[in-house]
Amino acid sequence: MESYNSFHVAQKHVLEAAKILNLEQATLDLLSWPQREFKFTLPVKMDNGKTKIFHAYRIQYNYARGPAKGGIRFHPDETVDTIRALASWMTWKTAVVDLPLGGGKGGVACNPRSMSDRELENVSRAYIRAAAPYLGIDKDVPAPDVYTNPQTMAWMMDEYETITMHHHPGVLTDKPMQLGGTEGRRDATARGGVITVREACKILNIDPTGTFAIQGFGNAGQRAALLHQEMLGGGKLVGVCDSRGGLYNPDGLNVKELVTYKLKKGSIAGFPGGKPVDRDSILEMNVDILYPAALENAITEFNAGNIKAKIICELANGPTTPEADIILNKKGIHVIPDILASAGGVTVSHFEMVQNATSDFWDEPTAHRRLDQKITAAYHTVAEAVKEKKVHPRLAATIVGVARVAEACELRGWV
Ligand code: GLU
Repeated sequence: MESYNSFHVAQKHVLEAAKILNLEQATLDLLSWPQREFKFTLPVKMDNGKTKIFHAYRIQYNYARGPAKGGIRFHPDETVDTIRALASWMTWKTAVVDLPLGGGKGGVACNPRSMSDRELENVSRAYIRAAAPYLGIDKDVPAPDVYTNPQTMAWMMDEYETITMHHHPGVLTDKPMQLGGTEGRRDATARGGVITVREACKILNIDPTGTFAIQGFGNAGQRAALLHQEMLGGGKLVGVCDSRGGLYNPDGLNVKELVTYKLKKGSIAGFPGGKPVDRDSILEMNVDILYPAALENAITEFNAGNIKAKIICELANGPTTPEADIILNKKGIHVIPDILASAGGVTVSHFEMVQNATSDFWDEPTAHRRLDQKITAAYHTVAEAVKEKKVHPRLAATIVGVARVAEACELRGWV
């Protein structure tokens, strides 16, 4: 992660799409940069009574199609450029699934693993105290991302409503159900990814009940493991890793037991049902389907040549560098790019916004059905663009997203 600047990668994606779309220079310049950036320096009281300073960001990359939308991440490696990149990808992601939303992202550079719940609550509330003037159901709507979750959203929503003295549940999504969350949001990112794998397997004539591996075992990775087997009729999870270790079992790991173990111990390391292996070996395992579900820049020019999967379903944001994309494409590996494969989360976030605005809540089958419709349609729109433009799927998806955003900017008279 350290040696790549994700924002340069994101800008490269836009440039490549703009060339094929013949966008005007001003449109390219506009779409290559965030429209608004906020940097906050947060003083937070820690459990030892001392104040600690945290650096935080909120970036509203583009809001031509609707309010900025995207998660808030708590991670020690966050910088303005990682958040810019993630905000850029959110912009194309919401456009690829054709949601009436823009793209944004936020982050706090901190290490949640070494913080107590009370310290995390203090950071969450401090973030909202700084960001509140720039957020709102019609301005910018955050959600969870890496190391944030519905509890984080609950603290943040409470702080926002305390400041504004109004109920605004739709100002954040992926809230707990008791506070206006929606059915189907917790597993939405994974469900969307598995839907894209289902469609890809149909087109490529691949049996989805073969083998799969997952790199990263947070919310998206865990749910993908369960849903892959549930929705696609089976499949053996032969390799998995998280930030503390890797596991291999050629006969298939018991997913339910593994998820229970992870939730109890905080890691998969030490799980008795598999052989411990090097974390990096997971990406290179001989499997049909690979789910990168961790962080950016996991697949690079150094390991792309060793990848054996037939399909890569990117549940993480930005897991593949542009150099690796070229290698994977040459090898004939079908990459379902992040801005499509991981769009299920933000799609159901939009459902949550709709339900919060109307106070009319949907049942679970409705959320699942509408998610399936959205993701299936987006998958086939991107597949058409692959054929029509003769480009690899990431570029095709970026072309679809960038074209929609560019059109909105033009109609508004911005360019
Ligand atoms: N953090 C998720 C993503 O990267 C969800 C964003 C949202 O729901 O706004 O897609």
